[in-house]
Order: sequence, then structure tokens, then C-alpha cells
Amino acid sequence: MSMPRKVRCAVEELVDHGGHVYTVTLLPADPVPNFRPGQFLHLTVEPYDPAGFWPDSRVFSIASSPRDRSRLRICYAVKGRYTARMEQQLQMGREVWVKLPYGDFVVEGDTDVVLLAGGTGISAFTAFLEALEPAHPTRVFLAYGARSPGLLLFTDMIFRQLERVPGFEALFFAEAGDPRADASFPAAGAPGCLPGRLALDPIWSRVENAGDRTFYLSGPPLMLRALGDELRSRGVPPERIRVDAWE
Ligand SMILES: Cc1cc2nc3c(=O)[nH]c(=O)nc-3n(C[C@H](O)[C@H](O)[C@H](O)COP(=O)(O)OP(=O)(O)OC[C@H]3O[C@@H](n4cnc5c(N)ncnc54)[C@H](O)[C@@H]3O)c2cc1C
Repeated sequence: MSMPRKVRCAVEELVDHGGHVYTVTLLPADPVPNFRPGQFLHLTVEPYDPAGFWPDSRVFSIASSPRDRSRLRICYAVKGRYTARMEQQLQMGREVWVKLPYGDFVVEGDTDVVLLAGGTGISAFTAFLEALEPAHPTRVFLAYGARSPGLLLFTDMIFRQLERVPGFEALFFAEAGDPRADASFPAAGAPGCLPGRLALDPIWSRVENAGDRTFYLSGPPLMLRALGDELRSRGVPPERIRVDAWE
């Protein structure tokens, strides 16, 4: 595992998805250290002197591929004080500092898995999903929910991988809005976008031997708590419930 390093970056691209959700591409001044899919970085918008203390920052899953160490991508939703500042201050060319890599929320490739992603929590899975090859030896089921179909991010990549990788399946959830009426949800209706919040019943009815799989949960604290409790009450043992603790 790489030692965390601090790296100066410039904002290279900023995508506003609406609903105060953004994707930010960063251009690091130096190649970033090796990291693994599912790891996260600390980002600060404060001025930083490498000789001084690390300032106030927030952590974000690294959504970009570890194969490209010349770019970093994160997705964030405005939740409180700091992310509101990010929304005001992050502009093209703006300098920020990051330190990485951190965390051990790494999807193991030797067992059938269910990935549960809420909102920008999808970022913890994108590098893993992007790297899936057709011969991937285990089965991967992604259940991904967002407030509206337009806030389902990375759908181009997910749909591409669904076509390429026979052992990969997905189910989407949108709390409001009809995916068939939303041009940003490319393959409207298929493989399925259910109305409402991410829920376990429709997953249990679609996933063979759901209770025997390992579950990975990434998203806002309320979702992690609710789905974690429900998985335990369905008898999934704690060692097969892996949570990217967002608190
Ligand atoms: C391992 C890890 C990975 C993360 N990855 C991402 C990511 O990829 N994208 C992303 O947008 N965020 C991610 N987060 C959450 C992020 O770091 C911030 O905690 C969150 O955005 C709130 O920051 P804030 O400063 O705006 O809110 P604060 O001012 O710190 O808090 C304001 C309020 O928001 C609540 N809150 C804190 N975190 C969350 C949250 N995640 N969801 C809902 N309410 C919250 C607090 O309880 C508080 O009441 C991750 C957190 C962790 C620990």
C-alpha cells in the first residue's frame, strides 16, 4: 500500500449535474501515488504551505481509474458548510491540495458481491466497475439509487460494462422523475430503474442467493445505517457487510 502524499492540483473540468451535485476532474502537478479502487482522498480548498499543518478538508472517494495517475476525479454533493464552500470556490483552473491514498474499502474479486450505492457513493465503485473484464470470475450486482434519473452518474460506463461483462448486472432507483423521460439516463427502462429509494426487496427477488453474497455499501450516513440494519435483520453476517463509513 502506498504512503499517503500531498499533491497540488488544478481544477481541469467541472460538471454541474444539477441538484448541487458535481463531478470535478483534477490535474495533479505530479503523478499521484498508486491507489486502489475504492480508496479516498482528502481535499482542501484552503491555501496550504507544505511546510505547515494540513488545513480543514473533507474526504471523497476517488472515482477515477488507478491506471491513470495523471488525473483524479471526484463527485460531491453539497451537504453542509464545507461542501457549500467547495461549490462557491471550485472553478476551472482553481488550485486545490489533495492527500491520498486512504482507506481499505476495496471490493475483493474472489466472491459474488452486491454493491449498494447511494448518490455520490457510486464514486467508491466506479474504478472497480470500469476495470471489470468479460472473464471476471465472480458475479457482481450493482444497485444504485439517486434523487432523480439525471443524478445517476457514470451511466455510460455502467451500460458499456453491462454489455461487455456477462457476470455483471445492475438495477437503478430514482426517488423522483421518470427515466424514460430523461435523456441523461441513456438506456431508459433497461436494465430497470425503479421508482423510490434503494431497497432490498427488489434486489432479493432478482439476485440468486442474495443472502450468500458479500455486500458493499457506499453513500450518505442515513442510507448506510438503514440498509446495514436491514441486511443484518435478513441474517447477513457482519463480516459480509462492508461499509464505506461516511462519518
Ligand atoms: C470514506 C468517505 C468517503 C466519502 N466520499 C464522498 C464522496 O465521494 N462524495 C461526497 O459527496 N461525499 C463523500 N463523503 C462525505 C464528505 O466527506 C462530507 O462528510 C460530506 O460531504 C459533508 O461535508 P460538509 O462539510 O459539507 O458537511 P459538514 O458541515 O461537515 O456537516 C453538515 C451536516 O451534514 C451531515 N453529513 C456529513 N456527512 C454527510 C453525508 N455524507 N451525507 C449526508 N449528510 C452528511 C453532518 O452530520 C452534518 O449534520 C465521504 C465521506 C467519507 C468518510
